[in-house]
Amino acid sequence: MAGKSTPMMEQYHALKREAEGCLLFYRMGDFFELFFDDARQAAAILDIALTTRGEHGGEAVPMCGVPAHSAEGYLARLIKAGCRVAIAEQVETPEEAKKRGGSKALVRRDIVRFVTAGTLTEEALLEPRRANMLVAVCELRGTIGIAAVDISTGRMELEECAADRLGAALARLGPSEVVAPEDWDARPAEAIERARQDFASDAGEARLKAVHGVATLDGFGAFTRPMLAAAGGLLAYLDHAGRGTMPLLLPPVARESDSAMAMDEATRASLEILEAQRGGRQGSLIAAIDRCATGAGARQLADDLSAPLTDRGAIEARLALVGWLHADPLLRADLREVLRALPDIGRALGRIVAGRGSPRDLGQVRDGLAEARRIRDHLQGKPDRPALLERLLPAMGGHGALVDLLQRALVPAPPTERQNGGFIAEGYDAALDELRQTSGSARRAIAALEGRYREDTGIAALKIKHNGVLGYFIEVPAKHADALMASDSGFTHRQTMAGAVRFNSLGLHEEAARIAEAGGHALAAEEAHFEDLTAAVIDAREAIAATAAALARLDVAAGNAERAAEGDWCRAEILEDRCLEIAGGRHPVVEQALAKGGERFVANDCRLDDQDRLWLIGGPNMGGKSTFLRQNALIVLLAQAGCFVPAVSARIGLVDRLFSRVGASDNLARGRSTFMVEMVETAAILSQATERSFVILDEVGRGTSTYDGLALAWAVVEAVHETNRCRCLFATHYHELSRLAETCEALSLHHVRAREWKGDLVLLHELAEGPADRSYGLAVARLAGVPDAVVARAKSVLDRLEKGRAETGGLAAGLGDLPLFAAANAAEEEQCDTLRERLRELDVDALSPRDALDALYALKQDA
Ligand code: ADP
Repeated sequence: MAGKSTPMMEQYHALKREAEGCLLFYRMGDFFELFFDDARQAAAILDIALTTRGEHGGEAVPMCGVPAHSAEGYLARLIKAGCRVAIAEQVETPEEAKKRGGSKALVRRDIVRFVTAGTLTEEALLEPRRANMLVAVCELRGTIGIAAVDISTGRMELEECAADRLGAALARLGPSEVVAPEDWDARPAEAIERARQDFASDAGEARLKAVHGVATLDGFGAFTRPMLAAAGGLLAYLDHAGRGTMPLLLPPVARESDSAMAMDEATRASLEILEAQRGGRQGSLIAAIDRCATGAGARQLADDLSAPLTDRGAIEARLALVGWLHADPLLRADLREVLRALPDIGRALGRIVAGRGSPRDLGQVRDGLAEARRIRDHLQGKPDRPALLERLLPAMGGHGALVDLLQRALVPAPPTERQNGGFIAEGYDAALDELRQTSGSARRAIAALEGRYREDTGIAALKIKHNGVLGYFIEVPAKHADALMASDSGFTHRQTMAGAVRFNSLGLHEEAARIAEAGGHALAAEEAHFEDLTAAVIDAREAIAATAAALARLDVAAGNAERAAEGDWCRAEILEDRCLEIAGGRHPVVEQALAKGGERFVANDCRLDDQDRLWLIGGPNMGGKSTFLRQNALIVLLAQAGCFVPAVSARIGLVDRLFSRVGASDNLARGRSTFMVEMVETAAILSQATERSFVILDEVGRGTSTYDGLALAWAVVEAVHETNRCRCLFATHYHELSRLAETCEALSLHHVRAREWKGDLVLLHELAEGPADRSYGLAVARLAGVPDAVVARAKSVLDRLEKGRAETGGLAAGLGDLPLFAAANAAEEEQCDTLRERLRELDVDALSPRDALDALYALKQDA
């Protein structure tokens, strides 16, 4: 990078422009180098040394570099940190460059690939138990088109939705990367902008047809213009990122918008389905239930939980398979053991199709397919097979010829590198075997030469060695070298080292040449076989992907059956009406957390139906209200995802949409005005929940002043009851809401029980009918370590407040019971009243001066 505008600098800047905002990995020999701002950014993220190289415009050029052979790990960290990287490789050797342009010619470099979060296939860069979604979105005449693909397995889905559902759809997909047209105002904030013309529906359709080599897409399903437009944007981006090499793409599937239970982003976040709210998988629903033996199974489970079904038949089909495996622990144990050893064939296939496959990937496909067939044969012998299994089994076989080919062609454990050969099995190719024999016999000849030379020269320390620079050579200690130096010795001198001298001989040269030639030919032969085997696998890609999918589905069912057996879970009964009857329900995550501390989870029932569809739940803080709400939502979600549920029994009327909202004060981490967020999210429920929906509302109204909050909570409950008419659990600490039971006929009152015991509060975490009788705030305060003196003072204030309420009665008094400023005012009033009363009661004439003074002191003390 010396001088002002060297050819290299020009080349660098041209490539950097082409990289369009990505970091540029610029290949120089054994390193990828980064320059300028790229270098600063990468050095900071990777924590590697930032140096300089030459200067540009009078300033030193910042530089850092990573070794090419270990670039993957560095790439992984950059991608994780949100970077995108363009890889510029040398596309000719220095010799070729010299031949082309003279001794000073610069080696040609091209960007061969873009590495971005959504386009990864490398095993090291992917999380085994998570899908890696790339999503393209656009809008066509008011309708959103969405195209989503998991490049690592080729699964592609197209869907469309109304503009206000885009957020929910993206929340379900959880993409690693999103692309959208550059001039679209409503594009998601994180989207990478791509040219508008990429998102033309005609072009999208043409690209899809070309990728799959079909004249019409009808065989794959019915796709709308918005779906095709999004597909166009997606394929154009993949074409760009792979520089023309398309990754594995399976035929697109059209997702029907109401085939899945609708859940918006806030619901997903608050139920902590795939991720806990503080981030990460730990503490999430999936972490508590995932017993999948394979990464592919875990990815399928995540998918199932993200999009629970709404079709009863489809749910029952999944449940029947879980049930079948649940009933046969031995079969299940065998199956899971076999699955655990299974390679990730879906992802191996992804790498192979993307042109980044290795001999090991071919070996994985071979082993995976062979194992799948064995599993099929085993299961086929079992009685009472459920219908879903009957549909899966055929997909697990049918690869006989391919497996046979791969088994004959490959060694048992093929290497990840292919340039050194050694992966084609003996006996597969006679010519290759002969080449190997030649080099083998030459190697033996060289070993024999060593013995002969020792005898001839009488030098016992003589050795024949090999290194990358000299090839084969003869080495003797320096003190014996003279004998070999003689011109008639048959040895020619090559190199003198500190304590040794190296020679060549005609015989050695001939054998070495035989090895080199045979080796070169053998490598070429292996390479050709690799290409053929790869092509054979690619030809069968759809069938292989179907096998991978069938195995994943089987794994999900076996994992869930295992989890159910571990935790005594049950199979829910799925109904078409609007009941929700859960007996002995538990929260899978909380239960597991408690069990770690040796504590027992208290199971609770829930019983909603048309006549009693809204439960208002009161009771002390920390009493288990939130837990109860969520456990019921999770049980519904699990059941409709086709899983057994943590309950003694469950009857669940299909839920079309699930909503979960938590009052704003629990959610302070959020940026926007928390109350505003709470209201926006609540508004969404009131406009979207149907009679078939299930809603949990936890302390909604808490994010504002007491009167506002109570008034809003009141109005929301009424609206849910009167207008939405959905099943709903509403937790609140406003006692005043219990008055709603008088007017809302399908609403009932419940509370979490607590008992005062020797002045302390014991939370029973048990749900009971009826309103919460009193606030246990003071006892909770004591439990929380508020000083006794303060609690005692609060108690006397409370007593007076309650006396006041008893005297006046009515709702106004109820409202006066509220904490915050209302409580403060009331306390003042109370106190003045008492003082006035005591003054009135004093018979001043009857007091001695001494008594009068005492009375004054007493009044002053209480004032
Ligand atoms: P609330 O919403 O009433 O404030 P939470 O549902 O947040 O209460 O529960 C508080 C804590 O009580 C939980 O973190 C959990 O440790 C415990 N808990 C809740 N429900 C149960 C239960 N059913 N059995 C045992 N412990 C529970």
